[in-house]
Amino acid sequence: MTSKASSSVELLTRWRRIEEDEEENDDSDPSTVRRLNQRKEQWFTDAFTMLISLPKETHIWCGCSDVMGPLIETFYNFFRDDREDSPLKVLWKRISGEMRTCAQCISQHHQTQEMYEKEYECASVGPLLVVLRKLDEQRVTTHLQEINLMIEKGAYDPDHHHAEVVSVMYEVLMFPFFFDDMSLCTEFEKFIESIDNIHELAFAENQEFPGVYALLFLNRRVRVIGYRLARAMGKLRYIYMFS
Ligand SMILES: [Zn+2]
Ligand SMILES: [Zn+2]
Repeated sequence: MTSKASSSVELLTRWRRIEEDEEENDDSDPSTVRRLNQRKEQWFTDAFTMLISLPKETHIWCGCSDVMGPLIETFYNFFRDDREDSPLKVLWKRISGEMRTCAQCISQHHQTQEMYEKEYECASVGPLLVVLRKLDEQRVTTHLQEINLMIEKGAYDPDHHHAEVVSVMYEVLMFPFFFDDMSLCTEFEKFIESIDNIHELAFAENQEFPGVYALLFLNRRVRVIGYRLARAMGKLRYIYMFS
């Protein structure tokens, strides 16, 4: 193995050591802090290189969430980074693509953010979470726009695009904060109506989608679909409280 390519095992060991040393340095000695930051920077660089060079068959969130998790800290700089091909932009493009068809990637991505929210103080992690949320809203809105356009043009092929439709629907209905974004909401309304025309939306029993209730606040056609889906989840008694 060359020294350039770090394996995920090696990266994990290094990250754990950095975390341990960080905890030990509780008197915040400035020169130790500086050295720790340098080690972190180097770790981030190596982690980017390793993840970006993973073979296409391996999803980053599915296969390497242990490395991707700590690396998400670097997204804080996303909107300050004006290069199109920086490691950060390349990585985001890749995980965005993988999240288009993979529910497990989507779950890991959101679980990691929830973990950050729980483990760190709001003042330190808040700005990072704002960036990530904005990126997620943009990503999902763009995806919905693309699917809607495809349906409009008659280019939607159920066999070919089914996984994308299921994934984006799963993401929005699992994480209802998406409904706070107005343009996303508009695209989702359009999406859910036209997809229902094609597929007759239904859920398997015992599946819980918190966002289904948000559908009841959208336009009339979508509300009707929302009622049907909510009934399928067996929670109709709660719905009467909303209506
Ligand atoms: Zn995946
Ligand atoms: Zn279908």
